[in-house]
Amino acid sequence: MTGDEQDYASQAGGDPFGDMFRGMGGMGGMGGMGGMGGFGFDFQDFGDFFNMGQGSRSQPRSSKGADIHMDLEISFQEAVNGKKVEVKYDKKGVCITCNGKKAQPGTKPTKCNTCNGKGSVQHRQGPMVIEMACTKCKGAGTVIKNPCNTCRGKGTSFNKHREEVAIPKGVDNGQHVRVKSKGNEGENGGPSGDLLLKVTVKPDSYFRREGFDIHTNAYLNISQVTLMI
Ligand SMILES: [Zn+2]
Ligand SMILES: [Zn+2]
Repeated sequence: MTGDEQDYASQAGGDPFGDMFRGMGGMGGMGGMGGMGGFGFDFQDFGDFFNMGQGSRSQPRSSKGADIHMDLEISFQEAVNGKKVEVKYDKKGVCITCNGKKAQPGTKPTKCNTCNGKGSVQHRQGPMVIEMACTKCKGAGTVIKNPCNTCRGKGTSFNKHREEVAIPKGVDNGQHVRVKSKGNEGENGGPSGDLLLKVTVKPDSYFRREGFDIHTNAYLNISQVTLMI
């Protein structure tokens, strides 16, 4: 939220009708509300008031990034002891070519000439002037003539990513290890999704797990067990 909007919201928050009634104050002596349309009352303020909630310079809606699902195969010993693994995957995030600006580097968005950079256009309906988000620039106030080649003007792309993940001790076959916020990044400031690793524990020739118990049919002395685990 920009400083301007904050000011506006805080003014309007306390007494949203204050300015409107002050604006109408002069009308009392002019015959009241009945002839309002005829007195050239400027509905511009009224229009802004309606737009306030939606934000006429549209704040793009933020959304949470998607979770990323991956399979991970580990040995029985790794499942018993826990393990740090490095996983590599493509993660959606801010485009590294244009840094999320959507325009090809070296070029700049230009002022939208439909709304003259305001992000909104006015429609007159009888005495009312209604302000609506500009459809050409979708309320941004700018248009991109040269979209970024990497992300085709979307501002986001799939970037190579590495993540070190600590697989906890005792993880069982088929369990998921969730790594918070390491999935695709959210859009317009929304939170990131998670990374989910579905663990497959490779069968072991000596040990097998049954619930919380580890079973073995092999005969081992204690030093051999220590070496293996
Ligand atoms: Zn880009
Ligand atoms: Zn526009």
